[in-house]
Amino acid sequence: MDAQHPGRVERVDGNAAGGRLLALFGTDMTTARATCGRCDRVAELADAVAEIDDAGVILLCRGCGRTLLTHLVTGGRATLSLGALTRLEWAVDSAEAPEVGPAGIEPTTSTV
Ligand SMILES: [Zn+2]
Repeated sequence: MDAQHPGRVERVDGNAAGGRLLALFGTDMTTARATCGRCDRVAELADAVAEIDDAGVILLCRGCGRTLLTHLVTGGRATLSLGALTRLEWAVDSAEAPEVGPAGIEPTTSTV
């Protein structure tokens, strides 16, 4: 049961991964709703089990223990690997997400 991890690994809840997820997605992802493809559990990422070390973060489903996603930064490269995560849904600022449809599109006038 004891996996050998290089360095110190901290097992905490998903809130602790918030900073790294913020750097990755550019927005707070702790309240994003994640769907586990193995057990169909839907929960906020803050509810996931997080394993954090210097290289990155692994988020595990609290329902079945499967890896939802792995985010590592090593050797100047970042990787995001999806495991059992089948869906991720998060709120966006309405100012950054204009209404879909022609009503929000202003015709442009050419200056030529
Ligand atoms: Zn699960």
